[in-house]
Amino acid sequence: MATKYKEKLIKFECSICKRINYFSQKNKKLNKERLELKKYCKWCKKHMLHKETK
Ligand SMILES: [Zn+2]
Repeated sequence: MATKYKEKLIKFECSICKRINYFSQKNKKLNKERLELKKYCKWCKKHMLHKETK
C-alpha cells in the first residue's frame, strides 16, 4: 500500500508561549475549522491549549 501525502501538515502552537510543540496532519475536506488541542507544553510546564497555526 503506497503512502500518499494528501493531508496537509499542521502545527499546533501553545496559546501562551506561542511555541510550536505538536504537529499533525488533516484531510483538506475537514479543514474548515481551526483545531485546538489541550496538550502538555514543556516550556510552560503544564497542559495548555494549543491552537492550529500556519
Ligand atoms: Zn507554552
